[in-house]
Amino acid sequence: MLKAGKPKIERINLTQSNFLLNFDLKPVELEAYLDEYLIGQNFAKGIIATKICTHFHKAKSFLMREPIYENVGFVKNNIIIIGPTGVGKTFIIKLIAKKLGVPFIKGDATKFSETGYVGGDVEDLVRDLYYEAGGDLEKARFGIIYLDEIDKIASPGEVIGPDVSRTGVQRALLKLLEETEVEIKMPHEGLQIMEYPDEGKNKRKKITLNTKYILFVVSGAFQGLEEIIKKRLKKQSLGFLSEIEGKEDKKINYMKFVTPEDLVAYGFEREFVGRFPVIAVFDPLTEEELYQILANPNNVIMLNKKRDFKVYGIDLAFTDTALREIAKLAYKDNTGARALVRVLESSLISFERILPSKSINYLGVTEELVRDPEGYLKAMLNNPSSDKWVEAYTRALNDERQRVIEYLESKKPYSKEVKSFEITPKRLNLLFEIYKGEDIELIQALERLNHIYHQIKAYETSFSRRNQIQAVFTEDAIDHIMEEVVRKDQGVFPFCEKFLSRFEYTFSLLKETLQRNRFYITRLAFVNPDRYLEELITN
Ligand code: ADP
Repeated sequence: MLKAGKPKIERINLTQSNFLLNFDLKPVELEAYLDEYLIGQNFAKGIIATKICTHFHKAKSFLMREPIYENVGFVKNNIIIIGPTGVGKTFIIKLIAKKLGVPFIKGDATKFSETGYVGGDVEDLVRDLYYEAGGDLEKARFGIIYLDEIDKIASPGEVIGPDVSRTGVQRALLKLLEETEVEIKMPHEGLQIMEYPDEGKNKRKKITLNTKYILFVVSGAFQGLEEIIKKRLKKQSLGFLSEIEGKEDKKINYMKFVTPEDLVAYGFEREFVGRFPVIAVFDPLTEEELYQILANPNNVIMLNKKRDFKVYGIDLAFTDTALREIAKLAYKDNTGARALVRVLESSLISFERILPSKSINYLGVTEELVRDPEGYLKAMLNNPSSDKWVEAYTRALNDERQRVIEYLESKKPYSKEVKSFEITPKRLNLLFEIYKGEDIELIQALERLNHIYHQIKAYETSFSRRNQIQAVFTEDAIDHIMEEVVRKDQGVFPFCEKFLSRFEYTFSLLKETLQRNRFYITRLAFVNPDRYLEELITN
């Protein structure tokens, strides 16, 4: 008689440091985080955020051995992303890996097909992940491997005879996609050996990394796939195709109707496609979206360009019309957001070369500059004291400020979370100062200010407790502390302590004599302590 096999229980103990133990992120929260950085791609964003969140929750449940999972295998939510170049395919996965704190590596599938050498090569991806995780096996086993240009390992039907190299790479990947042990070889040491002193003398074990929980994301532009989809749609239902063609304009993205069958027809092995339960389709970016990418105060392309100038002590600011012009030029390139980098470079390279040798410490980038960088620079150098340059910079600063205000008003759920205090005009100035001064993401500047605000509140509580009174910082006092702490780069506690400890005696005296318990601490306490004390006593 056959006995039912005992469910296989994993022998993995998550150490306290493993992020999975405390993993509690919900798909909508992850999506809100992505919204801070990624423009457009709303449909794909929702799918990817959800499936990656679920992947890690499932891994957590599996490892914590919830009974429901004991008899079933672990099925991964590996993802195929289809879309043109420069539209955010890699970016979204990088952002997610950063948010979750899991290691991420990117490889290129063409590397494998070109060498024709399969097996060993694809395993290098897993080794790279191990190095990326700083040699931390536990971290590496929950990492994300991103493989670009996956469409290049499809084996199109017209190849005569078996297309060994490409299908060979697909087969080699199959093992990794599911579960396999990969030996980690160190670059110079051959096989890495680990000692286990508890397990007996000289017992040595190779380091191997199991791929069971590693998430695989593959992507490509999949040229020619659209024709396969259209053909299928035509065959399946003529009515459906003419209906959508009639309704929408010619720009309809047929990739959105992709099915696993289409990918098989495109040249992937059925088993290979079967390992990717999730397919997400990215759209080409519109000119408006390219503009929005530039206008987003968290955008790293813009911040990087600003930092290039900041190293020479030059502050860059962009007018809104300059951003529109850059987006317009970039759109013609057809390389998505990558073109933005190119246009920014070509517009500003001469300025980056010449201005550091001049005594100019600002540059307002205008539409005029973007249209004719050389002419603009020449005019600047011919007449450096003209008001025109100051005026352009001031206009650009105003526009940047306006973009910050619009961002703060956009009510993005994540920014709301880090904006748990009211943004008074003074705080807005300060936020803008941090953002501009250091060329950091606005969200980081906001987080910094939020942290300071909460430290002030924490000091308020501790000061109250210590003196057994109820001290209340007025909003103008909080503004003042924030300004001083940021501008003079000091800590909230030492700063407050320096000013407030001298009032402790008076507070306790007033408390005893007047039975007064609640004290408002205003800005005056910091800027004119004597007057504050006087008012405290006389009021
Ligand atoms: P690909 O789609 O080819 O993988 P990437 O995701 O690497 O392209 O995009 C290149 C860069 O362009 C990103 O690092 C990011 O700065 C910017 N970018 C691309 N798409 C978007 C988008 N939808 N929103 C914001 N930035 C984007």
